[in-house]
Amino acid sequence: MINMDSQASLRVGGLTPLSASDWPGQLSAVVFCQGCPWRCGYCHNPELIPAQAAGEIAWDEVLGFLGRRQGLLDGVVFSGGEPTLQAGLPEAMQAVRALGYRIGLHTGGMYPKRLAAVLPFVDWVGMDVKAPFEDYARITGVPQSGAPVRESLALLLASGVVFETRTTVHPLLLSDDEALDIARQLSACGVKRHVVQEFRVQGCQDALLVQAKARPRPFAALAEEVGKLFS
Ligand code: SF4
Repeated sequence: MINMDSQASLRVGGLTPLSASDWPGQLSAVVFCQGCPWRCGYCHNPELIPAQAAGEIAWDEVLGFLGRRQGLLDGVVFSGGEPTLQAGLPEAMQAVRALGYRIGLHTGGMYPKRLAAVLPFVDWVGMDVKAPFEDYARITGVPQSGAPVRESLALLLASGVVFETRTTVHPLLLSDDEALDIARQLSACGVKRHVVQEFRVQGCQDALLVQAKARPRPFAALAEEVGKLFS
């Protein structure tokens, strides 16, 4: 049954009908929310950064699609871009929950108050931890951008919502020692699941980052060291 009475509205830049990888262990549809306040050089969805874009999918169309897939998917992941940028997110999540779906969220954690507002409707969160908190601007291009992420991490830890943290490693932007240090800090403060992911060239518009992607040592060696820190 499709809830067409919903007043929720979300600017959606893309929709993946079926994914087994965006929410571990769940078959999900992924809703790519339009807009992001950051400018990460390695962004692989740069078309989602502007707050508005041509080719958006109407929210009612997304709800219609999800109505037709009821019973065939476990959940819906709100990804981006940055989903918490949009004021309509809490209501949109509630409309999707009313269709019987579990709700996942990908976030950069830059809006802790908005994250707190949606946590009651969320079953799982994947939050990026991009850099040492005091040096976030080197990745995001935005001064002081690590402070709200630290706040969001504290919120997640206190909430009881299942979550994982994720760090993307590019040799020009984050050394292996720094990535390990981030992982140690996350483990020490109670994070149970942390993912390190290697930079991917797909979608990246920064020619320097694409050219300089060669790593000084195998990524698997870093992943193994990080793996020892988490249960
Ligand atoms: S936070 Fe995510 S969507 Fe926004 S610029 Fe960075 S990588 Fe791209």
